[in-house]
Amino acid sequence: MYKLATKDNLQYIFMGDDMILKKDDFENLINESETVVLAELESQLDALSEPMCLCNECVLDMAAIALNTVKPLYRVSLLGSLYTATAMDEENYASSVKKAVSNAIERVGNNPSHEVENTQEE
Ligand SMILES: [Zn+2]
Repeated sequence: MYKLATKDNLQYIFMGDDMILKKDDFENLINESETVVLAELESQLDALSEPMCLCNECVLDMAAIALNTVKPLYRVSLLGSLYTATAMDEENYASSVKKAVSNAIERVGNNPSHEVENTQEE
């Protein structure tokens, strides 16, 4: 059984008594879905037909919502993109990202998390 432990302010993962990973090793883990989602978000926001709030907060909200929807895609940075190339059906992944991003934009556009200056009654 794996166990997470903290020693000298560093986190380690143990299996039995053997330390197999230290927390720093996780820095080599990269969630590739972030890159894919942000690129898709940028291109969809570029192509918006209607103006909407693109403040930092709203765009981050969109990214967060989209990232929570798509499947994570971790790879080990030391090994380049070897894993991702084989581990997924790229066409399906791309279309699920497109859909997640457009849903996220619509959701934040309809319901921004901050106050919106307008004169309309709710
Ligand atoms: Zn905003």
